[in-house]
Amino acid sequence: MHDPAIPSLTATDPEVAALVQAEAGRQFGKLRLIASENYASTAVLEATGSVLTNKYSEGYPGRRYYEGQQLVDPIETLAVQRAKALFGVAHANVQPYSGSPANLAVYLAFLDPGDTVLGMALPMGGHLTHGWGVSATGKWFRGVGYGVRRDTGRVDLDQVRDLARRERPKVVFCGGTAVPRTIDFPAFAEIAREVGAVLVADIAHIAGLVAGGAHPSPVGHAQVVTTTTHKTLRGPRGAMILTDAEHAKAVDRAVFPGLQGGPHNHTTAAIAVALGEAATPAFRDYAHAVVANARALAEALVERGFDLVSGGTDNHLILVDLTGRGIAGKPAAKALDRAGIELNYNTVPFDGRKPFDPSGVRLGTAAITTRGLGVAQMPLVAEWIDRAVRAAGEDDEAALDRIAAEVGELVAAYPMPGWA
Ligand SMILES: *Cc1c(COP(=O)(O)O)cnc(C)c1O
Repeated sequence: MHDPAIPSLTATDPEVAALVQAEAGRQFGKLRLIASENYASTAVLEATGSVLTNKYSEGYPGRRYYEGQQLVDPIETLAVQRAKALFGVAHANVQPYSGSPANLAVYLAFLDPGDTVLGMALPMGGHLTHGWGVSATGKWFRGVGYGVRRDTGRVDLDQVRDLARRERPKVVFCGGTAVPRTIDFPAFAEIAREVGAVLVADIAHIAGLVAGGAHPSPVGHAQVVTTTTHKTLRGPRGAMILTDAEHAKAVDRAVFPGLQGGPHNHTTAAIAVALGEAATPAFRDYAHAVVANARALAEALVERGFDLVSGGTDNHLILVDLTGRGIAGKPAAKALDRAGIELNYNTVPFDGRKPFDPSGVRLGTAAITTRGLGVAQMPLVAEWIDRAVRAAGEDDEAALDRIAAEVGELVAAYPMPGWA
């Protein structure tokens, strides 16, 4: 059953309540390997579901446009203080509605329409909001994309430097959404400094690993850091922008009044809760366990003949090129889902196939590590993936259903926040 329980929702709207209950059961019964997903704690869920959703608070603590901020101000201040302490930054803005609006605020703060931004190209592992053409950031700004080296699958820093020197971007983004390796923040900082660009580290995926000491921090290298709060950081759907003192004002003005109206106070409270959780020794252990699980899973997949982009992983994320297995990413992802293993199809660098039907799948260990799975289970997870990919190639639905039953049996032994 969904936890916290939803008796009022069930009485008022049984149709929605039944779907929410079913989703909770689905999340409990599956091996959730979507790299951007996690299980937020019950405390985070409670804050998200609180009466704070009723309150309007345009502005910042102490400088609001509506009355009645006696309690919202200390809540936002707590979130800001915790973010500053956890990441060691001079300034934090916790109001962006999500990762994409946070990045858009960066454009508003530091670029004019038509200015050049250098970011990782989407098919290479970058995010839409790093200047890719279909995004507002690529339509209203001049996006230039770098990629990874063909031989190593790792960011091509020579290309980044060459493009920066030639294109003179005002902003350089580092980080991405399908990057399995450590981001070299000092190297990006050196390049950005040389061309006078603001370096923005988008740590949406790895924020929890940074907070827990399992990935180097961009702080001290990037003047601006953007992040979601709901991926490895394990908070509510939301985002933050962390800056040095010099860039604080421009970012605050861009978020409000530049881009947004009232902040989502229920989210702000839940971010404060998540940041409190992330400051504990238990969360440090969690972050390191996420990486250990990803490494163990990557090794087990390689042993079974899977081709991993860059050969492995340093973080929570694994990008698998299925070309050698004779199946595309989309049919593999659909078969895996039927087998109780949830992940997403994804382009791989230099993909010969189309973006809506690419060659790879992306997976991550943030959610299953929250459930409590450890390195001992990773060979079995790799075995299930291997069997499911084979079964997909043979259209063997019975085999997929057998794997789903085995998955369900294993995960039932591991508790899930949000499920009682
Ligand atoms: C997920 C992600 C975002 C966008 O976050 P949303 O909350 O989905 O808008 C931005 N940048 C990167 C690198 C991401 O992985």
